[in-house]
Parts: sequence; structure tokens; C-alpha cells
Amino acid sequence: MSPLDLLDVEASLTEEERQIRAVVRRLVDDRVRPHVAGWYEEGRVPARELAREFGRLGLLGMHLTGYGCAGASAVAYGLACLELEAGDSGVRSLVSVQGSLAMYAIWRHGSEEQKQRWLPAMAAGEVIGCFGLTEPDHGSDPASMATRARRDGDDWVLHGSKMWITNAPVADVAVIWARTDEGVRGFAVPMDTPGVAAREIPRKMSLRASLTGEIVLDDVRLPADARLPGAIGLKAPLSCLTEARHGIVWGALGAARDCLETALSYATARTQFGRPLAAFQLTQAKLADMAVEWNKGLLLALHLGRLADAGALRPAQVSVGKLNNVREALAIARQCRTILGANGVSGEYPIMRHANNLESVLTYEGTSEIHQLVLGQQLTGFSAFA
Ligand SMILES: Cc1cc2nc3c(=O)[nH]c(=O)nc-3n(C[C@H](O)[C@H](O)[C@H](O)COP(=O)(O)OP(=O)(O)OC[C@H]3O[C@@H](n4cnc5c(N)ncnc54)[C@H](O)[C@@H]3O)c2cc1C
Repeated sequence: MSPLDLLDVEASLTEEERQIRAVVRRLVDDRVRPHVAGWYEEGRVPARELAREFGRLGLLGMHLTGYGCAGASAVAYGLACLELEAGDSGVRSLVSVQGSLAMYAIWRHGSEEQKQRWLPAMAAGEVIGCFGLTEPDHGSDPASMATRARRDGDDWVLHGSKMWITNAPVADVAVIWARTDEGVRGFAVPMDTPGVAAREIPRKMSLRASLTGEIVLDDVRLPADARLPGAIGLKAPLSCLTEARHGIVWGALGAARDCLETALSYATARTQFGRPLAAFQLTQAKLADMAVEWNKGLLLALHLGRLADAGALRPAQVSVGKLNNVREALAIARQCRTILGANGVSGEYPIMRHANNLESVLTYEGTSEIHQLVLGQQLTGFSAFA
């Protein structure tokens, strides 16, 4: 049991959940930890290689059923996200976008043919997917998206651009959301279709071990069967975001745990004024407060995960988790940074990397402000979005 598990949450997990967690933790220790600082510094990640390894372990779309997916519980998926993000938020993002956004969109809204065509290869990590909702001029307000899809005979023609799309530079297929005369619709777009171009967004200071890109769609002609038949209206992409946000509720705790474990061990080893930093009351107060927040976050994640497994999780409840756990994880990362003093800003330790990553996690999948507005509406009945 981790010394951080003050409330013995461990005892609430099933044997299967613990086993899945142990497998992912080992994978992260072997394949991510030894390399991730270098990937981060260089701003690259062997996404294809990792996707195949994650696929072999059944981590891609692991909470989905059929089509080569593992059919694990939502809690097991959450624990996997936690362990992956203890390695790096960018690596967890690769898995989240593949499984909860791209694969989930096809699994939930696609035709049988689309599922057969894409999902087994995506579950195996042979095909990488991305999810294009955000645009250069439309982020928090996707309802105002400018990307258009128009009919031309039986075909669809897509025109527009998508921005800040995780996995785009390496993706084989993009789930693209576009406005039609009937409202928002989703399309499975092979990235080698003429008129599709992906460009990596350079100079990111956060999530550097993740590939993020812009997708330009220049009159991209697609056959009628590229449209996801079940995806009607904006609620379709929003249903995918609810899936992915649940993973983030857990994942952010992984980054925070890695910071806390690093700070604890550093504070125990480092002496000033003839005593370990861990023996100073102010350090203990910091550690105690952070551990309390971390444990509360874990209880929250577990509660939401159990609701998801019971089929009872509502989007506003996921907003509670995303808002709280990412905000607290970022606060923990910043506080842990102070415990390491100057070493806290060094890439020799993971804390600054986690803190920088969590800035992106705070913004994507609905910013903190947007989740506050979701909850504000839930509480008051007034929509303050516009
Ligand atoms: C590394 C990274 C990866 C990403 N990956 C993906 C991806 O795979 N797919 C995808 O589609 N998108 C992705 N995104 C985009 C992300 O979802 C958006 O950045 C996010 O939705 C916010 O949109 P924006 O950046 O345009 O900010 P804006 O919408 O311009 O918001 C800017 C600020 O204004 C605030 N704001 C906006 N509206 C309101 C309001 N009504 N009231 C109060 N405050 C408001 C916001 O909270 C924010 O603080 C990614 C982003 C990052 C950084």
C-alpha cells in the first residue's frame, strides 16, 4: 500500500483492478520513466511504438466491449490512466484520445462497418486516431464551429481547420466534427484523403511528450459512409468528452502522486539547519495538506468510477471531478516544487514537467471556468455561458 493512501482506499479495489493497475505501473516503469524526461526536452515521443505496446496490453479502448477491446470496468480504466499519468500526462493523453475520444466516437456513433473497419486495428495500436473538435477561432464554444460539411451527390465535402489536436501529426484517422445544414455531424476521415494536411504545433511548453497538431481540411471529398450515422448534434462530441474527462479525473491524480512521492523522498533525504526538510513543521504542513487533497481526489475518482460502472454517471458529476482533481493536482505540483527548492525547477526531477503538463490538462477537455459554469448552471438553473 502506498504511504499516501491514508484512507485505505486500496481496500475498496477488487483484485482484478489491482492487477490491471500493477501491470500498467510496471509498463510505465519500464517503458516511460527511463525515457520521458528526454522525450519532454526534445519535444517528441515514439507514439507509434508506444501505441503498439499499449495495444498489446489491451489499454487502448480498454473500457469498450467487442471489436478487440478489453471490456474492463471504468474504475480499472481510471486506475490505468492514473498510472500512465504518473509517468507523464502526454503519454496518458495518447491513450485517452485514442480510446475515449476517437475509438469511443466510432464505437458509440459509428455503423457496424465503421466499427469493423477501424476499432480492432485501433485497439491493437496499429491505427492511431485523433479527435478534431477545437478550431483556431472556436475552443470553449464548439457550437460556433466554422468547419462545414456539405453534400455533393452521395459524397460529403469537408472544409475548415481544427487546432490543438492531440495525436494529429501521427494519426491515421481523424474523427472530425463539422457543421452541416442539419446541424453538427461527425466523420471518420482517413488522414491520407486528398485535401487533408496535418501540421505539428511547434514550441509547446507543456505536454511536450505528446504530439499536437493543426488539421487543415481543404475541400476533402468523402464517401457517404464516412459519416458516423449515430452522431447527431453537438451532444455526440460532448458524449465523447464525458468519457475522456472521466479518465482525466483519475489521470491528474497520477501526476500529483508522482510529485508527492518525489517531494516526500527529497524532504526525507535533504538536510538544512542540521535536520531533514521533512522534520520541519512547515514542510509537514505542506505534505499533510497535499496528502489530504490527494486522498479526497482519489475518493472522488473512485465514486465517479463506480457510478460509471453502474451506468449512472452524469456529465455534471464528471465536471465536479475534472474541476477539482486537475485544479488540486496542479496546486500539489506547484507546492511540491517548493519543497525541492532550486532542484524543483530541474528536469532531473519530474515535478516541473508534471506542473507544466497539468497546465494543458487544466485547459483541455473543458477549461476549469467552463466546468464551473456547468456546475453553476446545475446549481442555479441559469446558463451563464453566453
Ligand atoms: C495540449 C493540448 C491538447 C489538446 N487536444 C485537443 C484534441 O485532441 N482535440 C480537440 O478538439 N481539442 C484539443 N485541445 C483544445 C482544448 O480543448 C481547448 O484549448 C479548450 O477547449 C479551450 O479552448 P481555447 O484554447 O480556444 O480557449 P478559449 O475558448 O478561447 O478560452 C480562453 C479563456 O477564456 C475562458 N472562457 C471562454 N469562454 C468563457 C465563458 N463563457 N465564461 C468564462 N470564461 C470563458 C476559458 O475558460 C479560458 O480561460 C487541446 C488543447 C491543448 C492545450
